[in-house]
Amino acid sequence: MLETAHAAIRSAATKLGLDEDAVKQLIDINNEHIFDIKLKNGRTYPAYRVQHSNKRGPYKGGIRFHPEVDIDEVRALAILMSFKTAAVGLPLGGGKGGIEVDPKTLNQNDLEELSRKYVRHLHPHIGPDKDVPAPDVNTNPGIIDWMVDEYEIITGDKTGASFTGKTVARGGSLGRDAATGSGGVIALETLLKHLGKTGQKLTYGVQGFGNVGSFFATVAEGDQPNWRLIAASDSSTGLYCKSGLKPSDLSRHKKNGGSFKEYKADGVSSITNQDLVGLEVDVLVLAALGDAVNKKNMHTVQAKYIVEMANGPVSNEAFEFLDKKDVVVLPDIIANAGGVIVSYLEWLQNKSGEHWSESGVNNKLEKYMTSAVDNLYKTHLSKKVSLRDAAYINAIKNLS
Ligand code: NAD
Repeated sequence: MLETAHAAIRSAATKLGLDEDAVKQLIDINNEHIFDIKLKNGRTYPAYRVQHSNKRGPYKGGIRFHPEVDIDEVRALAILMSFKTAAVGLPLGGGKGGIEVDPKTLNQNDLEELSRKYVRHLHPHIGPDKDVPAPDVNTNPGIIDWMVDEYEIITGDKTGASFTGKTVARGGSLGRDAATGSGGVIALETLLKHLGKTGQKLTYGVQGFGNVGSFFATVAEGDQPNWRLIAASDSSTGLYCKSGLKPSDLSRHKKNGGSFKEYKADGVSSITNQDLVGLEVDVLVLAALGDAVNKKNMHTVQAKYIVEMANGPVSNEAFEFLDKKDVVVLPDIIANAGGVIVSYLEWLQNKSGEHWSESGVNNKLEKYMTSAVDNLYKTHLSKKVSLRDAAYINAIKNLS
């Protein structure tokens, strides 16, 4: 993933006529915090916080708990955050954190101890005006509440602006849970408008029906009657129904703790995740993992559009191949920026002691997202580059 991030930056920088020194400056990381967290049960976990750039404002980025977290992944994600906040015009920088742990192996006490100790180690380097972490894969508002509480105990800060993605009771923003999926729907709709395709019927498939994928589909179900979800997957299996799956039913099933393997409905058959990537759909929404479309499966893609809701789900090699085939890839640093946009709105609410209505938050999200896609499309036309290059060009301009 680090390679994909570097390649995307280098490709855009080349089109702007920047030299290797300038590329190095864009890629170089400001600070890395690498440490171990030892729990009372005797187990030790490697932990990271990478602060890539604070040129535009405090570092901003999630904390991931996953057994495969490593420093290169955290570096790549931190760099992507700086380019994401810059591409959508937020006054924030980019950072990322992670702990190499499988949280399923921890009980609640261990999880709380791990979360609090992460903050105890990092507290001199983070805070409302320095670095504002948030949830990411396997971290949730409950974990963030422990973290913000620990930060407040140590520093006395009472604003709650040290972390975003808190529960609403603890100062979290209304609309944050749906923000990334909802932002993706706005981004795709705005792009289709530019392409003169508004209002056309289209079919789509979603890889990864978690927080992001399920909200993408349920928001689209309400706002986009012409979009038909015909396939969706989670880590257990994929589901297919030519006449259309019902996003709200799938979401309810997942919320009740079910996996797609147990989902039954008339006309629904099961497919593999690889079948889903190669399915005949208009739009493929990738909302699971990095490198989901890669050199092994890129030849199977039939979709006309790919929406990168995960971070780096189309590898660099696959991107070049698909770009030549005129597959339109809506790039991650724009498509999935809804989450960080509403995180920014949460931070603003905390700093000013306000609490905004959900519709107020959603209106602001829509403004940021449509303006980011309008600017993206403008650069795509004026520079005659792919949308991925255009997104990075816009970010580089804001970072320079
Ligand atoms: P999540 O854990 O809620 O959901 C991930 C989903 O992907 C789950 O349904 C899981 O079963 C599925 N999955 C895992 N492996 C899979 C596989 N091999 N094939 C198909 N499905 C698989 O996570 P999320 O918060 O929805 O995040 C999804 C992606 O979006 C991540 O890459 C994350 O970094 C990125 N992202 C999330 C946010 C956010 O606000 N949550 C913001 C920006 C980017």
